[in-house]
Amino acid sequence: MSYRHIKIPESGQKITVSNDQLQVPDNPILGFVEGDGIGPDINRAAMRIWDATVEKAYGGRRKVHWAELYLGEKAGEMYEGDYFPAETLDAIRDLIVAIKGPLTTPVGGGFRSLNVSLRQELDLYACVRPLTYIEGVPSPMKKPEDIDIVIFRENTEDVYCGIEFKSGSPENKKLAKFLREEMGVDFFEDAGLGIKPISAFGSRRLIRKAIQYAIDHNRTSVTLVHKGNIMKFTEGAFRNWGYELAREEFADATITEDDLWSKYDGQMPEGKVLIKDRIADITFQLMLLRPAEFDVLATTNLNGDYLSDALAAEVGGMGIAPGANMADHMAVFEATHGTAPKYANQNKVNPSSLMFSGAMMFDYIGWGEVSARITAAFKKTVGEGIVTYDFARQMEGATEVSTSGFADALIERL
Ligand code: NAP
Repeated sequence: MSYRHIKIPESGQKITVSNDQLQVPDNPILGFVEGDGIGPDINRAAMRIWDATVEKAYGGRRKVHWAELYLGEKAGEMYEGDYFPAETLDAIRDLIVAIKGPLTTPVGGGFRSLNVSLRQELDLYACVRPLTYIEGVPSPMKKPEDIDIVIFRENTEDVYCGIEFKSGSPENKKLAKFLREEMGVDFFEDAGLGIKPISAFGSRRLIRKAIQYAIDHNRTSVTLVHKGNIMKFTEGAFRNWGYELAREEFADATITEDDLWSKYDGQMPEGKVLIKDRIADITFQLMLLRPAEFDVLATTNLNGDYLSDALAAEVGGMGIAPGANMADHMAVFEATHGTAPKYANQNKVNPSSLMFSGAMMFDYIGWGEVSARITAAFKKTVGEGIVTYDFARQMEGATEVSTSGFADALIERL
């Protein structure tokens, strides 16, 4: 495939898929998007950490060959104002695995969220966010070590589809008339209108991925988080399709809470995954009071967005929370925070969210030694009180360092 601006390094080999498995060479080409705002600062730091860790772990036997891809403001400059060039999507499809920094989205106008568009165009239907306490990280919780949760957030449906009709627009008036006259419903005059599609297909494939993950990683439960008491045919249906899927496809590997009490006297049988559900609002409370009761969560798009930021705050904040957007094989890993424009180009922010997203990426391609070493060096660095500003303001006696200074300190401790 030939590209206009993207250069695929000739020294590397592409990752491929065969027999439903990723085939990863020792010199894989991975795509990266620098991102806007603080993106260049954290990307520079994280890349130095990833390359140094791969070198340490494999002594030159393995090496990543990076291909820069363009989205957001940098793309706009190179592609005559196109912030979302088609060739970047083609390159991600071709390379299969990529990582990205944050991208700017103007609120209430301008272009549509590039992140949402990327997830939808590439059908990256699962947003996976692990939230695990790492010793030494500042936390407002009394027992942060109780938090070891992986959120699977549906990424392509829900109110994020962007099916919205502005108050006063001809489309809004047409839809309002149809709803009032043909569907017999009522609402205030001039209400903005939005549609919340939740399908069996979208819900089932997300929940399937969450249950499979729980089985593969010896997790104990999958909780379906929903607001089905109010939104019965969307959120409630998500819950029902989840139980149905567990029954149809994972009957041997899972039990429900009803089974737990009716058949097992409340004692979890060895090797099974418990499927349960909780309403979204109480889940937020339980995440503060009894997070140890949760393991894998599967939830709809909006709930998952809120929950993952709330939980990130319990284990160190946005500066450290990693994430990935996944299809069946293709995956785009990403820092979960935004572009924090007030800190752009100041070499100030924490590069750990992107760094740990990269660690997830190395796990994904089967290079688990890399993430283990990054986590160990991170614990040492933070344990010695060497941290960026966001941790420094929550820790007594810490030594505040810059983004690049944190990368230097971590690399020394690899
Ligand atoms: P944000 O960029 O995530 O920043 C909010 C606050 O989070 C920052 O002011 C800072 O807190 C903290 N923070 C974020 N990244 C940090 C880091 N690496 N290290 C330490 N602290 C960090 O959210 P926003 O201000 O709401 O959004 C800004 C832009 O980013 C918007 O255009 C939004 O659409 C976009 N966005 C993009 C993504 C994405 O690309 N995936 C995600 C979310 C938002 P303090 O001020 O307390 O220091």
